[in-house]
Amino acid sequence: MTARSEPWPAGEWRRRLAAAVRDLDELGELLGLDREGLGDGPTAASAGRFPLRVPRGFAGRMRRGDPADPLLRQVLPAPAEDDDVPGFTADPVGELAVVRGDGLLVKYHGRALLVVTGACAVHCRYCFRRHFPYDEQAPGEDGLEPALAAVAADPTVDEVILSGGDPLVLADDRLARIAGRVAAIGHVRRLRIHTRLPVVLPERVDEALVAWLAACPLPVIVVIHANHPNEIDGDVERALATLRAAGAVLLNQAVLLAGVNDSADALVGLSQRLADCGVVPYYLHLLDRVAGAAHFEVDETRALGIIDELRGRLPGYLVPRLVREVPGAPSKVVVG
Ligand SMILES: *Cc1c(COP(=O)(O)O)cnc(C)c1O
Ligand code: SF4
Repeated sequence: MTARSEPWPAGEWRRRLAAAVRDLDELGELLGLDREGLGDGPTAASAGRFPLRVPRGFAGRMRRGDPADPLLRQVLPAPAEDDDVPGFTADPVGELAVVRGDGLLVKYHGRALLVVTGACAVHCRYCFRRHFPYDEQAPGEDGLEPALAAVAADPTVDEVILSGGDPLVLADDRLARIAGRVAAIGHVRRLRIHTRLPVVLPERVDEALVAWLAACPLPVIVVIHANHPNEIDGDVERALATLRAAGAVLLNQAVLLAGVNDSADALVGLSQRLADCGVVPYYLHLLDRVAGAAHFEVDETRALGIIDELRGRLPGYLVPRLVREVPGAPSKVVVG
């Protein structure tokens, strides 16, 4: 049922990463939309701090001539981003209170999260870390030493999560070294990678990535991030089949986003596409209230209604857990 597993030639992804669309007029041209069709975005402030960035392959999955396209809406800087909305802040999930200078974030029992880079292949306008001070908090290679030492000194940590930014924008030799260092810590039993690259830049799943992944002595869980079924085309299927063939367990997390996936039809479609690719829908996050993203919010009552409809239409294992992140809570909080 799933696509053939076959990694891309090593390194091809780097060229595609560098060639991402960063210019609004160019994106408009690709999609057959003028400035008006693009909503007159971006405004100077939002796009200056967090510029447009979208890989060409991802843009190629957008519908031409449709300003409401669900993939376009995720990446298009909108004038509404500059609105100052009460309750929407730079640090919506309380990370600055717990992050250490070396990129280590421990909020939950047993799991240590490492912010290994601030870079991403795509800039998602709703990103809860869009204001994260990566310059201070995402260390270079040597800077990771104190974080690894802290994990080694804490026997309660049995899972290490590589996050960012997107950890898969790092070079394979660096990732292999980090994975090797983590695996050498006796009490760590699992390595988890949170990444959007298999979806937005599937060529990232290349021979070099597969080689270090297959050699990793720890079980690897890859949590991808797709919000809409249109994101998963044949190339993404191939990337996911390749990750599975390399032994990774695949989960998906999505964010519930107004105008993108806030309907049972969209989310049923997403779960079905994920199931086609051997990916289990893990979390559906209520939007973190990050400054600049208020126009994406879906209220909890509507969210629960949508989840109820999913329960009536999907097997239980294809219904994601609806969660909210509450600063200071000991886990993600299941809603409803
Ligand atoms: C979300 C998150 C995790 C992972 O939580 P799970 O419920 O295990 O998926 C771990 N650490 C931090 C800091 C997180 O934000
Ligand atoms: S890929 Fe993830 S970390 Fe990067 S901008 Fe998108 S949501 Fe944020």
